[in-house]
Amino acid sequence: MKICGFQKTTLLDYPGHVAATIFLGLCNFRCPFCHNAELLTEDAEEQCTMDEVLDVLKRRASLLEGVCITGGEPTLSPDLEILIRRIRELGLLVKLDTNGYRPDVVKRLCSEGLLDYIAMDIKSSPENYGMVAGVPNINTDTISESISFVRSCGVPYEFRTTAVKGLHTEEDFEAIGRWLQGAERYFIQNYVESDRVLFPGFSGFRREELLAFADIVRPYVGEVCLRGVDY
Ligand code: SF4
Repeated sequence: MKICGFQKTTLLDYPGHVAATIFLGLCNFRCPFCHNAELLTEDAEEQCTMDEVLDVLKRRASLLEGVCITGGEPTLSPDLEILIRRIRELGLLVKLDTNGYRPDVVKRLCSEGLLDYIAMDIKSSPENYGMVAGVPNINTDTISESISFVRSCGVPYEFRTTAVKGLHTEEDFEAIGRWLQGAERYFIQNYVESDRVLFPGFSGFRREELLAFADIVRPYVGEVCLRGVDY
């Protein structure tokens, strides 16, 4: 396991909870707008060990309610289950961020009762998934499998899409809505421009455009919200 970042406190990463965030290295996607580009490959630099992170969490356990495990793609880390078990021993909740491309790992963690919240990325419509995930030959059946599982597993969850001008259209959000039909919660978060993403040059949408995307998805999903955008 390569821990490539550790944020001791966040009010943003785990909805409704004071949390810490652990960033694990490696990813099986190459989203061109990825803000964590330095975490994606074997070259990613380890920042601390699991024991070091757990020591800090132990000392701060009375201040924290949970831990968000993100990446990279956490399900690629072989010791993920061990990490989660040790976090839970501290009495902390665990939220897992995932791109949904390893449904078996998420299923196993859920069957062991190890997850308290799942946030799954929906990169785009099935038609444009490979382009937006940076994996041209992507198998969207695997994403569908994860969507079905997350929707019915009984663990609180959200689906979410980072909306990027140049990559997403209204048609994509219509298709995403149909794909997620019956889901409880879906967030659209606007892309924030940065020179440090995998392929700089993209931009975000205007507030009105994001509201229009939300309206497109709303008939299909229980709750649709914008994240990081003032209403
Ligand atoms: S799924 Fe995409 S955005 Fe997330 S870490 Fe991997 S490359 Fe970056």
